[in-house]
Amino acid sequence: MEPWPRVFVLLAVTAAVLCTPLVNDLEPGKEWPPRNSVKQPLDEVNEPAKLQAIPEEETATGDPINDNLDIPEPEAQILTKTAFDDKVDYTGAQVWKVETNKNSIWLTIMRLRRRNLISTWAGNHSYVDVFIKPNAIENVTRVFQRENISYEVVIDDLQKRINEENPPLDENDIELQDRQGHRMTWKQYHRLSDIHDFMDYLAKTYPAIVSVKTIGHSYEGRDLKVLRISNGNPTNKAVFIDGGIHAREWISPATVTYFINQFAENFDVESDDIKNIDWYFLPVVNPDGYEYTHVGDRLWRKNRKPGVLGRNCIGTDLNRNFGYRWGGKGASSNPCSDIFRGSRAFSEPESRAVSEFISSSAAKFSAYLTYHSYGQYLLYPWGYDNALPPDHRDLDVVGKNIAQAIRQAGGTTYQVGSSSGLLYPASGGSDDWAKGQGIKYTYTIELRDTGRYGFVLPTTQIIPVAQESLAGLRVLAKQLHA
Ligand SMILES: [Zn+2]
Repeated sequence: MEPWPRVFVLLAVTAAVLCTPLVNDLEPGKEWPPRNSVKQPLDEVNEPAKLQAIPEEETATGDPINDNLDIPEPEAQILTKTAFDDKVDYTGAQVWKVETNKNSIWLTIMRLRRRNLISTWAGNHSYVDVFIKPNAIENVTRVFQRENISYEVVIDDLQKRINEENPPLDENDIELQDRQGHRMTWKQYHRLSDIHDFMDYLAKTYPAIVSVKTIGHSYEGRDLKVLRISNGNPTNKAVFIDGGIHAREWISPATVTYFINQFAENFDVESDDIKNIDWYFLPVVNPDGYEYTHVGDRLWRKNRKPGVLGRNCIGTDLNRNFGYRWGGKGASSNPCSDIFRGSRAFSEPESRAVSEFISSSAAKFSAYLTYHSYGQYLLYPWGYDNALPPDHRDLDVVGKNIAQAIRQAGGTTYQVGSSSGLLYPASGGSDDWAKGQGIKYTYTIELRDTGRYGFVLPTTQIIPVAQESLAGLRVLAKQLHA
């Protein structure tokens, strides 16, 4: 494989780019054991001088691309209103799929991005999806024509897609909600309160196997709720599954809650592979951001903690804030950036709560899955750089088996590889951190689709996505018993 052009690194990093003897001594549903002393952060975190260095991409090209250092981005605010009661309107905004078969195309895209005419959503070796504000379309079209860059308009009015994405439920579904004791349907993207109420409902309804614990709070004070499903078998291995690290990736919490529902409601008839694992689910890692995508800006990605610049640039990319090789490639030190890494590793309450829970838990986690969208990738570490863990062959084989099961179940093709190799380096990811904790089967799963709807996936796809993903999860469960 050709080495990556450095410019690609800069471009793509903005793209969108996842046994308990002590626990099981307790009766399910009762308080979980207190935390052990929290492990010290990994060595990598304790090298401030090295980590403060400007990432090499910034100085690598003759073209002074100071993406991470240009603090004010006034034009970037055009579509970003700060008032909560005032939704960001994407009328006329477009998403184009751009072929990137030449380095010169990356340079052009970088230049346009620097001028805040476009932003990048997702991409790999052969294409990138770019988001274009309405007032920039003419300008960008001219540049692409002049430079002979081919593209396809995938979304010609983003607001229209947003309006159609999450229609109200019909009468039958509303009736079902009243009957079933909670409001989750998987026919709609639900607000956080529906998700949390659903988790509490299951704990109350199935106290022998389900329990819920608040492992911390978001910046704005919302609960970070983990639901555990366990048959109490002391030899069980444990799996941690999270979703919603990135606020706008709505299909992720929808999929994770589907797993929860499937296992909790059908536990008695589930396979032994599923029953003899302790499952831990955190469907919404970033509840403030998730709520904000419902009431403020559908395309918000980060959490909602104000940065050093106050309300002008809000939020940290939680998937750049974890403490394994934090501050390296593919993460920004600019608080206005969509991939802002935070002021230090685990500076954010959400990432800190996840890491403290996992590292101090009595559960012996054998797998960590973190669900994102979009692109249809099964990615294993490392993300921080183009490097592989010693057991990468195991991860690759199991990843490919999972992908095969997904394809058989839903006809959807996933690409399997290391995240840095298949996509681009991105440091501070939760997957790298989990792998660094010794959790063997660690994957970031980028759900559907490949760009037709991107983050704004219609609700009719929730159940198909969740079902094929569940087929993949069963392969992992089987592997843990091998
Ligand atoms: Zn994501």
